[in-house]
Amino acid sequence: MSELEDARRNLKDALEDIGAEEHYEPLANHEKTLETSLEVEMDGGETEVFTAYRSLHSTLRGPGKGGIRFSTDVSEEEVKALSLWMTLKNAVAEIPYGGAKGGVRVDPDRLSQGEEERISRSYIRSISDQIGPDIDIPAPDMNTSSRHMAWMMDEYSLMRGRKVPGVITGKPVEMFGSEGRADATGFGAAYVIEEMLEDIDSDQVTAAVQGFGNAAEPAVRKLEELGVKVVAVSDHTGARYDENGLSYDELVSCDREHGIVCEVGDEIDNMDILELDVDILVPAAIQNVITEENADRISADYIVEIANGPTTREADEVLERKDVTLVPDILANSGGVTVSYYEWLQNRSGDYWTREKVLEKLRNNIQQAYRDFRDYRDSKGLYGRDAAYQMAAQRLVSARETLR
Ligand code: NAD
Repeated sequence: MSELEDARRNLKDALEDIGAEEHYEPLANHEKTLETSLEVEMDGGETEVFTAYRSLHSTLRGPGKGGIRFSTDVSEEEVKALSLWMTLKNAVAEIPYGGAKGGVRVDPDRLSQGEEERISRSYIRSISDQIGPDIDIPAPDMNTSSRHMAWMMDEYSLMRGRKVPGVITGKPVEMFGSEGRADATGFGAAYVIEEMLEDIDSDQVTAAVQGFGNAAEPAVRKLEELGVKVVAVSDHTGARYDENGLSYDELVSCDREHGIVCEVGDEIDNMDILELDVDILVPAAIQNVITEENADRISADYIVEIANGPTTREADEVLERKDVTLVPDILANSGGVTVSYYEWLQNRSGDYWTREKVLEKLRNNIQQAYRDFRDYRDSKGLYGRDAAYQMAAQRLVSARETLR
C-alpha cells in the first residue's frame, strides 16, 4: 500500500467509525497539487532541472500548513500523503490550519550552500501563486532549515515588493522567527508527558528515548526538569543506559564533543532500548522501528511518539492487544507546528513574544489537546491512534457541516 493509500485508508476508517463516511470523497481528495520544474544554475556554470511539488490538501479549517523537504524520495504521492497527514495533525492539535506539504527532488548532500540558496529561491518563485499568509504557509522539513526559510521569505517578499514574513514559518529569530521554535517539538512532547504523569502509578517515572536530535534532545532536557528519570538514550551510533538516570548535561557535552551519545552510563544494543522495562518509551528518531517483530517484547506501558510513523500498522495491533497506552505522532509531535502558528501570529500582528510566553502558550495548548484526546479515548475505550484519527475526522466533519 502506498503512503497515500495508507493515509486515505486511515481517514476512511476514522470517518466510518464516527458514522460520517459520506464525507470521505471530498476529504480524501486534495484541493490543489502543483508539479513544477526548477531550472537552476549550478556552481560549475551548467544548469540542472529539478522536479518539485506543493500539495494543498485542505483549507477547510484554515490556510494550508506543512513543510518543504529536499530529498531524492520526493514524489507527488509522498507530498499528497504528507499534506493529508498535516490536515489531520492540525485538527488534533487544535490549530486553525489545514494541511499542505511540498518538496524538491534533489540529493541535498551534493549541494553547495549557493546551490541550496538558488534552489530555495527558484522553488518559492515557482509556487508563489499557490502560497501566501492566508492561503498556504510552508515551513522546514527534512533537510531544510531556518536558513532555507529565510531565503524563501526573502524571495517571496522581493516578488511582492514588500516584506511578507507571514508567508513562511521556521525562520531564524533574527529574521522574523519565533523564540522557542527550536525546542518546541521536544518540549511539546514533554508537556504531554507532564500531563500524563498523574495517571502513572509510580513514585519515580522512568523513560527511554530513542534518538538525540533536534526533536529528542529538548525532550530529554525537559523530562529531566520534570523529574522523569531518563534511563536510556540512543542515537544512530549506539545506546546508553543507566538505571539511576542519565544526566542531560553529560549527554549534551558528550554529544557535542564526539558527535555521538557516548561514554555516559553503560552501552546497550541500539534496538534493545525499545524493549526496556520503563514506564514511557519515546521513539524520537526514525520511522518503522516498532514492528510486528518486536512489538510483543515492548515492556513500556506508555508510548509517546515524537518520530513520525515509528510504529507499523501490524505493531499497532499487538500494542492494542497488550493494552499499551499510545500517544500518536500527530498529537505528540505537534509542538513544532503549534509554535509555527505562533510565529505566524507574531508576524501578522508585529507583536513579538518572549520565549517564556511562547512556551507557556505551547504548554497550555498541547496539554489541552492531550486532555481532550485522553477524554475521548477513555470515553470510547479506544486505542490511542484510533482516538486521534477519529477526533481529527470529527473536527473536519463538523467544519463541513457548519457550511451546509
Ligand atoms: P534529527 O536528524 O535532528 O535527529 C534524528 C536522531 O535520530 C539523531 O539523534 C540520530 O542519530 C538518531 N537516529 C537515526 N537513526 C537511528 C537509529 N537507527 N537508532 C537510534 N537513533 C537513530 O531529526 P529530528 O528533527 O530530531 O526528527 C526526528 C523525528 O522526529 C523524525 O521522525 C521527524 O519526522 C520527527 N519530527 C521532528 C520534528 C522537529 O521539529 N524536529 C517535528 C515533528 C516530527
